[in-house]
Amino acid sequence: MNPERYLPRSLPQQLKGLTELALDLRWNWNHSADTLWQKVDAELWEATEDPWLILESISRKRLETLASDTDFVDELQRQFDYRKEYLSQSTWFEERHGDNKLGAVAYFSMEFGLSEALPIYSGGLGILAGDFLKTASDLGIPLVGIGLLYQQGYFRQAFDTDGNQLAFFPYNNPTMLPVLPLQGPDGEWLRISVELPGRTLYLRGWQAQVGRIPLYLLDSNDLLNDPGDRGITGELYGGGREMRLQQEIVLGIGGWRLLEALNISPTVCHLNEGHAAFVVLERARRFMELNDRSFSLSLQSTRAGNVFTTHTPVAAGFDRFAYELVARYFSGYVKQLGISMDALLALGDGLDGDDRDSFNMAYLALRGCGRVNGVSRLHGEVSRRIFCPLFPRWPQHEIPISHVTNGVHMPSWDSAAADALWTEHCGKGSWLSTLESIEQAWHNVDDEKLWAMRNRARQPLVEKVRQRLARQQAACGVSQEGVLQCLQLFDPNVLTIGFARRFASYKRPTLLLADPDRLTRLLTDTERPVQLLIAGKAHPQDEKGMRLVREWNDYMRRPEIHGHGVFLVDYDMGLAAELVQGVDLWLNTPRRPWEASGTSGMKVLVNGGLNLSELDGWWAEAYEPEVGWSLGDGQEHDHDAAWDAVEAEELYMLLEQEVVPAFYTRDEQGIPTSWVARMRQSLARLTPRFSCNRMAREYTDDYYLSAAMAYRRRAADNASLSAAIEQWHISLTNHWQQLRFGQYTVQESSTRHLFQVEVYLGKILPTAVRVELYADPLPPDADPVCVTMDRGEMLAGSTVGYQYHATMPAVRPAANYTPRVIPYHADLSVPLEANFIRWLE
Ligand SMILES: *Cc1c(COP(=O)(O)O)cnc(C)c1O
Repeated sequence: MNPERYLPRSLPQQLKGLTELALDLRWNWNHSADTLWQKVDAELWEATEDPWLILESISRKRLETLASDTDFVDELQRQFDYRKEYLSQSTWFEERHGDNKLGAVAYFSMEFGLSEALPIYSGGLGILAGDFLKTASDLGIPLVGIGLLYQQGYFRQAFDTDGNQLAFFPYNNPTMLPVLPLQGPDGEWLRISVELPGRTLYLRGWQAQVGRIPLYLLDSNDLLNDPGDRGITGELYGGGREMRLQQEIVLGIGGWRLLEALNISPTVCHLNEGHAAFVVLERARRFMELNDRSFSLSLQSTRAGNVFTTHTPVAAGFDRFAYELVARYFSGYVKQLGISMDALLALGDGLDGDDRDSFNMAYLALRGCGRVNGVSRLHGEVSRRIFCPLFPRWPQHEIPISHVTNGVHMPSWDSAAADALWTEHCGKGSWLSTLESIEQAWHNVDDEKLWAMRNRARQPLVEKVRQRLARQQAACGVSQEGVLQCLQLFDPNVLTIGFARRFASYKRPTLLLADPDRLTRLLTDTERPVQLLIAGKAHPQDEKGMRLVREWNDYMRRPEIHGHGVFLVDYDMGLAAELVQGVDLWLNTPRRPWEASGTSGMKVLVNGGLNLSELDGWWAEAYEPEVGWSLGDGQEHDHDAAWDAVEAEELYMLLEQEVVPAFYTRDEQGIPTSWVARMRQSLARLTPRFSCNRMAREYTDDYYLSAAMAYRRRAADNASLSAAIEQWHISLTNHWQQLRFGQYTVQESSTRHLFQVEVYLGKILPTAVRVELYADPLPPDADPVCVTMDRGEMLAGSTVGYQYHATMPAVRPAANYTPRVIPYHADLSVPLEANFIRWLE
């Protein structure tokens, strides 16, 4: 497709390259072309940092001037060459997996936070997806993204004169967004369709480019659709339950169809949260059609290639739909699958009381994927707990959910000062490598340099805060004099603390306001002052969250706080980047375990900022006393107001007695040595671990490759392996009830115990099961003990039975151990795909 068709004019020959540069969202993290855009239109660049918008807005005359400016044309050529070089560079993926056993990965997500220029995200989930695409581009991972193009992005925040939150929903005009329509084979606009009750929904396809990675987006705003349906992709997380279901049908079913229309056949499908779970149905349905197999066998085959990442820390957070609603939308679809509605509903069935009559998308995802993970070590544990109902009688540690801790795309969040120091000490493109040498490199940087970087990064933040505050004040009707005063406020030498996040109550955004006067004393101390930058949006339907916004606004308007603190309006990626680059300390106060991972605190790492955070999400695995500060006792306390008060007290104490003194205690050169020591440890140890580079490599090496191979094995030879697995599964289902234990004996001695147990298998093949000896972990955070018992002689008698035995060293009492029988198949994940278990009673 010729992208220029979508510009309101043609470009002079010398400037043709601008279109390609403007459409590649890589300008977002590779700032080498910034000056180019600045030169095109300084004012627009300052206001939007959006090259595509600039290109669409500037005059023909300006373009002609630029075309005759040889310096500009040379610079454009240089940038164009850089881009070519980036795209042709050899990558981590090529070097490590040159044979590409992986094929292609399709990454499905309800939101993508790539840039303010493409506002199709609301928070952490989207930012993660955006950072992941950027990293996949850097590392050369063969991946495509699938999402929705919303007509309205997430809302924009403003304040009224009293400090109440106002919400605005600006319209995303697709022709002004850096996306291009996808074309079909005959040059027509690529269109796919999905069936809704009594009608067909048509979806148009768009493409955004993220370096090497395409992001495909669907939207329903097509004249062919009913007026009501044109709004299905109208608003991210807008509308009621029915609209959410429609959106998820578009993402999962429509998304898979779009890939097919583009001739992309992924081996691996990655579901970023349960919203996308319908893709497992559609992928299986297509497999079924192409191979003429049953739905269950097709799901068995395709499931192996699906990966599910859950982000939810409490069962109440799972996405659910009433049975009645699902039945209405899928009545035609189940006929195509050749299954009953009950069989479909059973895929999202919760088994437990809570979930009766509702279809749980996370459960569908779990039942349709071959690998499942949470997003931090702690969240992995929490997820094993909340998915327990799907694995009756299985111990919690064996619930088949592992974790890949989130990370952030460092080049998107680093400051110019940090980037310079990183390049000097770790080499150019350190984020493209395996990160092994990074820790050592930081131990060779001296204190002055680290401290100078911090000071250099704080300055532009203060400058931007002044300008933002001035704009905010002007918008609220403050006098011109007052507005001008804002440009003098704040001090680039003062300890700067940031707190910015969605104002959901579990994040406890006002914990620091528990004792406002104490906070005021902290901020306004004349010797050792602190400046506090707060930002965040409350969901427009969340009354409580909006009250918390108002509380901060009330506090910030106290005259004595003037110049010591500010609530910055309209938290978004742009503001987030300014904050994480400049602040010295990032605060995070969620109620454990509600923050599945959290990523904003990771963004300060590369900039030498420190974290003070609740021991939740990523911080629960990152925290050591050398790298920052921790809040809470590492336990769960639910919504306990008394406990919140305890933590508020702890927070004040930490700030007053540790953070402020560490920052202001200086040596003869004016360097806060203990602060800088923490900076060094945090930079050296945490940055590589919490970078998206590490995360993307983990997904590739430990999830995608094994998923791709498992899928290929199952699908080969017209799915013969899947057919065998299905037979195996049917046989276990039919005969599991007959399985029983016979005599169990233990011979104890001072050194070892000998365990023997008789198991009657009936019609189950001895190779289809494993008899194990299991003991709960001791201490509770250790691994459980689980050994396979050896099969001995066949027992005489009418049903097939065997004697199984095992010997264990006598470190634990024999009574700790219990024999059990579980399924076994070399090509299957147990208990994920077969959750039978029988314990000796
Ligand atoms: C990074 C980021 C988030 C996610 O941060 P949390 O730690 O999950 O709060 C949310 N919104 C924006 C704008 C961000 O940049």
